Amino acid sequence: MSSYKIGVIKGDGIGPEIVQEAVKVLDAVANVEGLSFSYEEFLLGGSAIDATGVPLPKETIEGVKRVDAVLFGAIGGPKWDNLDRHLRPESGLLALRKEMNTFANLRPATVYDELINASTLKPEVVEGVDIMVVRELTGGIYFGEPREYGKDRAYNTMVYTKEEVERIAKVAFDIASKRDKRVCSVDKANVLEVSQFWRDIVEEVAKDYPEVELTHMYVDNAAMQLIRYPKQFDVILTGNIFGDILSDAASMLSGSIGLLPSASTGKKVGLYEPIHGSAPDIAGEGIANPIATIASASMMLKYAFGELSAANRIDDAIKKALADGYRTKDLSAFDAKEVVSTSQMGSIIADYASK
Ligand code: NAD
Repeated sequence: MSSYKIGVIKGDGIGPEIVQEAVKVLDAVANVEGLSFSYEEFLLGGSAIDATGVPLPKETIEGVKRVDAVLFGAIGGPKWDNLDRHLRPESGLLALRKEMNTFANLRPATVYDELINASTLKPEVVEGVDIMVVRELTGGIYFGEPREYGKDRAYNTMVYTKEEVERIAKVAFDIASKRDKRVCSVDKANVLEVSQFWRDIVEEVAKDYPEVELTHMYVDNAAMQLIRYPKQFDVILTGNIFGDILSDAASMLSGSIGLLPSASTGKKVGLYEPIHGSAPDIAGEGIANPIATIASASMMLKYAFGELSAANRIDDAIKKALADGYRTKDLSAFDAKEVVSTSQMGSIIADYASK
C-alpha cells in the first residue's frame, strides 16, 4: 500500500469548508485505490495571525518540509485588511510559496461540457477548451529588487535570471509533451528587455523538445486571443505578473471561479489550491462550491504522487456529479436538477469516486 503524508492548510473564510470536502473525497478514493493518506494541519493567513500574531508561523515553515504535498484552501478577509502589508494574510502566502520554492504554477482552464452555458462566452467559442497555463511564480516583478514606496514616486523591478526562465520553460515543455505538444510563450518583448531575455532562453530550452511546437505572443494580444479563440492554445508559458492576469482571464472561460484548481510545484513539496480566494461574503453559509479544491486534490494525486488512476477517479466523479445536475448555489442557474450545499456536493463526489 502506498502511503502519503499530506499537509493541510484550511486558511480563512470558506477555506475550512472546502478543504474538508476535498479530504472527504481523498479518503473515499484511498479506500478503493488501496492508498493511505495521513494528514497534518498547519496555520496560515488570518487564522495564523489570530493564533500566533504572524501570517506564516515558524511551525508551518518547518511542518511543510515533513510532508509529501500540501492541500490548501484560501486565506484573507476584511478582518485583517488594515494590518501593515507585511503582516497581512496575503504576505504569509507569498512568503510560504517562496519558502517552498514552488516556482511553477499550473492552472488548467477546462470547460466542462455540462456547464457550457455558464460561460459568458458563446458555447461554440468555449466548447472543448483545454488550456494549461504555466506561470512563473517566485520571480519577476512581484519579487524583484529594488522596490520602493516613496513620497513622490514608487517603483518595482521586473527581473528574471537565466536559471529561473530555464526551469519554468522546462516544466511547460514537459507538460506539453504529454498533451497536444504546443507551447505558446507569452511576453512583452517588443517593449521590455527582460521579456526579450525570457524569449531567447525559452528558444534555447525548446531545442531539447523538437516534438513540441513553440510560438511566441505579446501579452496584450494573448489577452485578446484568449477571449476571441481560446481553442488555439494548448500550454501557455508566461511570467509571474502576466500569468496572474492571463490565468484569471482563462479561468472565466469556464464560467465559475469555484471550479478551477491549481498546483504550485517546484523541486520539492508542492502546494495544491483552488484559484479563488476565501470568499468572506459567503463564508459559513455552506454554499461555497468545493469542486475547485476537490480538483486540486486530484492534481496533487497526479503531479505530486503519480497516482493517475486515483486522480482520474476524482475527475470522473466531478464530471458525473455535474452531468447528473447537482449544482452548488453559484451554478444554480445552469441546468441544475438539484441545488446542493458544500458538504452535500463533497459527499456526492466522494460517493461517485468510490464506485
Ligand atoms: P474571492 O475569490 O474570494 O471571491 C470572489 C467572488 O467569487 C466572491 O463573490 C465569492 O463569493 C465568489 N467565490 C469565490 N470562491 C467561490 C466558491 N468556491 N464558491 C462559490 N463562490 C465563490 O476573491 P475576493 O473577494 O477578491 O477576495 C476575498 C479574500 O480572499 C481577500 O482577502 C483576498 O486577498 C483573498 N484571496 C486569497 C487567495 C488565496 O488564498 N490564494 C486568492 C485570491 C484572493
